[in-house]
Amino acid sequence: MEKKISLKGSFSTDWIRYSEYEYKTAEDGSTYIIPSRDAVFSMYNPFDVAQELLMDLMKIGDMAIKLEGDSNKNFETLKKPLMIFVRKYGLLGLISASAYNRNIIGEKNILMIENNHITKKEIINAEEYVNMFIPFINEGDIKIGEYKNKVYLAKSEDSPSFYGKRPVVMDLIFSMFYSEKIDWIIDFAKLIVKHFNQLLMFRNSLNYLIENVTIMAGQFHAEKIGFTINQLDKTFIAWQFDSLKTAIETIYAFAVTDEKIILNRCSNCKEIFIAKSDREKYCNTSCRNRANVRKSRNKKSSSKKEN
Ligand SMILES: [Zn+2]
Repeated sequence: MEKKISLKGSFSTDWIRYSEYEYKTAEDGSTYIIPSRDAVFSMYNPFDVAQELLMDLMKIGDMAIKLEGDSNKNFETLKKPLMIFVRKYGLLGLISASAYNRNIIGEKNILMIENNHITKKEIINAEEYVNMFIPFINEGDIKIGEYKNKVYLAKSEDSPSFYGKRPVVMDLIFSMFYSEKIDWIIDFAKLIVKHFNQLLMFRNSLNYLIENVTIMAGQFHAEKIGFTINQLDKTFIAWQFDSLKTAIETIYAFAVTDEKIILNRCSNCKEIFIAKSDREKYCNTSCRNRANVRKSRNKKSSSKKEN
C-alpha cells in the first residue's frame, strides 16, 4: 500500500512559483529571497505535492534547529536547501497569512495575528507593512489606485491578476516584486518541527495522558480559508487558501492526524519519515540494519564484560 497523506475533500489552491530566485540584502541588512528578473512563473496546486512539500519544509526546520545549537550559528548552509524549496514551491505568502485583514492593499492599518513571523506589533501601518515585502521595487513597478471605490494594484509586468476575484494582496504575492526574508521562512519551518517534536513527546507518553492536550496552542491561524461548492462530474468542495503557509499548516495537521499513516522520527538517523504503524521505528532497511548491528554489538560487549 502506498503511504500517502490523505486529504479529505477536494483541497486545491493555485500557487505560483518562479523558475529562478536570488538572495538580496535590504537596507536594514536583512536577507530576502526574490524572483530573478528574467524568471518565468508557473502555477501548481500545493495539495498535489502535499507530502513532498511538508517533508521538504520539515527538513529545513530540522537543519535550522540543529544550527541553533551550533556555536558559530552558520545559517549560510541553509541557503541552498531554502533556494531549492522556493524554486519548487514558491514563497510562503506571509503578507497574507500574518494579518487578519483580507485585502491588505489599500487599507489603513493591519491587524496582525498572534505568533506571526513578521513583527511583534499588534497593529501596524499598512504602508509600512506592505513595504516590508517589497523592499526592492523601483518607481513604476507597482501602482496602487482606486476605481469605482475598489482598490486595485497595477504591475509593470505580466504575472497573474485576479481582478477582484481574490483579495488584492494576491496580485502582489504573485508578482516578481514580492519577496520574503529568509528569517521568516526559517522561523516558520522551525515552528512546524518544534510542534512535531512536542507532539512526539506527548505521543510517546500516551499512557500518562488522561485528558486531551492542545499541542502548542495559539500557533495556527487558518482564519482565511474559504470554500466554494463546485460541480464537475460530481459536486465537491473547493477550498481556497490565502497563502502557501496556511496550505502547509493544513497539510501538516492532516499528516499528523491521519490514521493510516504515521509521521515519525527514525530511531537511527533521526530523520522524519512516514510509517505504516507505530511499530515501524526506522526510515529504511539500512537504518534498521545499522541499528540491529549496533544492538548486537552492545550485547556482545556487555556479555564480555560480564565474563
Ligand atoms: Zn533513518
